[in-house]
Amino acid sequence: PPERVDVVVLGAGAAGMMCAWEAGKRGRSVIVIDHARAPGEKIRISGGGRCNFTHLDSAPRTYLSANPGFAISALKRYTPQDFVRRVDQHGIAWHEKTRGQLFCDGSARQIVDMLTRGLADAGAELRLATTVTDIERSADGFTLATSTGPLACRALVVATGGKSIPKMGATGLGYELAARFGLNVLPTRPGLVPLTLDPLQLERLAPLAGVAVEARVRHGKTRFEDGLLFTHRGLSGPAILQISSYWREGEEIEIALAPATDVFARLREARARHGRQAASSVLAEFLPKRLAQRIGEQETGAKNLADLPDTLLRAIEAAVNGWRLKPTASEGYRTAEVTLGGVDTAGLDSRSMQARHVPSLYFIGEVVDVTGWLGGYNFQWAWSSGWVAGQSV
Ligand code: FAD
Repeated sequence: PPERVDVVVLGAGAAGMMCAWEAGKRGRSVIVIDHARAPGEKIRISGGGRCNFTHLDSAPRTYLSANPGFAISALKRYTPQDFVRRVDQHGIAWHEKTRGQLFCDGSARQIVDMLTRGLADAGAELRLATTVTDIERSADGFTLATSTGPLACRALVVATGGKSIPKMGATGLGYELAARFGLNVLPTRPGLVPLTLDPLQLERLAPLAGVAVEARVRHGKTRFEDGLLFTHRGLSGPAILQISSYWREGEEIEIALAPATDVFARLREARARHGRQAASSVLAEFLPKRLAQRIGEQETGAKNLADLPDTLLRAIEAAVNGWRLKPTASEGYRTAEVTLGGVDTAGLDSRSMQARHVPSLYFIGEVVDVTGWLGGYNFQWAWSSGWVAGQSV
C-alpha cells in the first residue's frame, strides 16, 4: 500500500517550503517532493547570492496578472513585514538596498536554511532527488507514483515554479497538472529578461558593450527609471528587465539615457559659451564618455557646437532622451528571472489558492499567473501564496 500523508507539496522552492512549514505547524503530516538534489536552488542564486527576499511596497500594481486584484488577499494575510519578522526571529541580518528592497547581509543560503530547518522542526519531510511519474485523483485525495515509491495524500500542493532557467530544474509539470485537472493555463512567456537587438543595431552599438547609465525606459504608459546596461547581445540592466515583462515582440520601447537632464538647454548654453567644442564634450558631462562620443559623432560628425543649428541640437536631444527602438526578441527562458502567465487565477480561490473545482488541489508561487516586478516582489508572492495555502491544506 502507498505511504499515506495529509499533504504532498510538489516543489521545494520558496513557495513550497513556506507552505510545508505552515502546514506542518498546524499538525499536518507533509512530504515535499523535488527532483533536484538541493532545495531552494533559485533562492540560493537570487539577488546576486544575497537574496532580495521581499519588497516592502508589495502591492497589486507591482504584479502582472490577467487579474491584478487576485494577489491582494494573500499579500494582505501574509505581508512583507510578516516575512521580515520571521527573518529577524531566525537571526538573519538584512539591509534595505534601494527603497523597500530587502537583502540578506550575508548569504541567500541563510534563507534556504531557515526554510529547511523551519519545515523540519514542524515535522515536514523533504524528499529530494525524487521524480513524479504519475498522479491520479482518488476517493479521498490523490495518489502519486514516484521514483521513491507510491504516495497517497489528502491535499496536493503544486509549487513547481515557472519555466525560467531550465538548467536549474524548471519543468512544465505544474502547467501539465493544471491542464489535466481542468484548470485554464494562460500562455507563458519569459519575464524580467534582457532584450536583444538585430545585427545592424548591434553592430552600431557594439562599442558600447559594458556601458551603464541610469535611464528611463517606457513602453506605452509603463515606465521604469533604473540602470540600463549595453551588452554584446543588446540591452540589459534593471530598467530593461522591468520593461521586458510588459514588452512583446514587434513593439517599440522608448529610452531616455539622461532623464534628469534638459539636454537641449545644456547644449544651447554650451554653444553660447564655448562654441568651439564638440557636442560630445557637453554630453560627456552627464553621460558616460563612450556613449557621449557615439551619440555626438552620429548626430553631428566632427562639427563644433557653433556650427549646429537648433534643429540639430533638438536631434541630439532626441537621440539622448527620446531614443525609440524595436528590440528583436528577449533572451528567453535561458536567462529570464520569471515566467509570465501560467495557471489562470480565475480557477483558484484567492484566500487559499485552492482550485475552485478540484477540492484539495492547490497552486502556489510562480506557476500561477501572478508575476512581480524586479525587486523582491516575486519571493513575496511565493511566501504569501505559500503561507495561505499552508493555513488551508
Ligand atoms: P521555484 O523557487 O522555482 O521552485 C520550484 C521547485 O520545483 C524547484 O525546486 C524545482 O526543482 C521543483 N520542480 C520543478 N519541476 C519539478 C518536477 N517535475 N518534479 C519535482 N520537482 C520539480 N525573486 C525575488 O523576489 N528576488 C530576487 O532577488 C530574485 N532573484 C532571482 C534571480 C534569478 C537568477 C532567478 C532565476 C530568479 C530570481 N527571482 C527573484 C525570482 C524567484 O526566484 C522566483 O519567483 C521564485 O523562486 C518562485 O518560487 P517558487 O517556489 O514558485 O518556484
